[in-house]
Amino acid sequence: MLIIGSHVSFTKAEGLLGSLNEALSYGANTFMFYTGAPQNTKRFEIDKNLTEKAYNLMKENHINVDNLIVHAPYIVNLANNKEEAKYDFSINFLKEEVRRCEELGIKYMVLHPGSHVGLGVDVALSNIIYALNIILKDSKTTILLETMAGKGTEVGVNFKELKTIIDKIENKDKIGVCLDTCHINDAGYDLNNIDSVLDEFDKIIGLNYLKCIHINDSKNEKGAHKDRHENIGYGTIGFNNLLKVIYHEKLDDIPKILETPYINDKAPYKEEIEMIKTKKFNDKLK
Ligand code: FE
Ligand code: FE
Ligand code: ZN
Repeated sequence: MLIIGSHVSFTKAEGLLGSLNEALSYGANTFMFYTGAPQNTKRFEIDKNLTEKAYNLMKENHINVDNLIVHAPYIVNLANNKEEAKYDFSINFLKEEVRRCEELGIKYMVLHPGSHVGLGVDVALSNIIYALNIILKDSKTTILLETMAGKGTEVGVNFKELKTIIDKIENKDKIGVCLDTCHINDAGYDLNNIDSVLDEFDKIIGLNYLKCIHINDSKNEKGAHKDRHENIGYGTIGFNNLLKVIYHEKLDDIPKILETPYINDKAPYKEEIEMIKTKKFNDKLK
């Protein structure tokens, strides 16, 4: 079954109900959100009433809560332990985020592995492993490591680096991967040949670890290490290649989330989801 949605907002006033209503307005059957501003660590108390209302509305609309995704804020960097206080803060903050996911009943949280900021990849990976083992101890939430474009000193830019982390995680059933099509294109993977990309993923990590896919086109060529998302069909990956990912038989039942840019301050998700469902490219989107 096609499980498709997009990034949506999550506000103090409307909570999970507001996020769900936004997703429904796009014709989505899943969605992803930050539990607060992605660029800071201020967090508001979650309104249980709104969560309960959202659950009732999900039931009515046959939306499975297990397909919903939270994205961890991108300012936390588990790879960098140069300043001990900052590193500890990041670990504790993500523990809190995991707890917020539990409170909302959300199963999966996507996390950018981090940037090594001069420490080197090996040190970065061991910092991430150390931190994740603390965060995931007794966690009900599964953390999905996102494949990264390789911008700056990002780690997690190839399947091997992610595998190195996964291998050292004690709570194995609470770790997984989120594949981002723009990021892997920018990291150098060839989306003209999705089968061989998936074969490589399966050989190195195992497809059973793949729990979420971010569907984005890219403004840049394969291997550019840039990370600039484009609307689907308007970038270098192309509409047909993205459709092959979305409808791939091995990726059925994996939630697919759009994180494409707004067009004239308007979310493009209703139109993009329509394109995906009808498998027809809309050249009038922008
Ligand atoms: Fe991300
Ligand atoms: Fe992403
Ligand atoms: Zn990105």
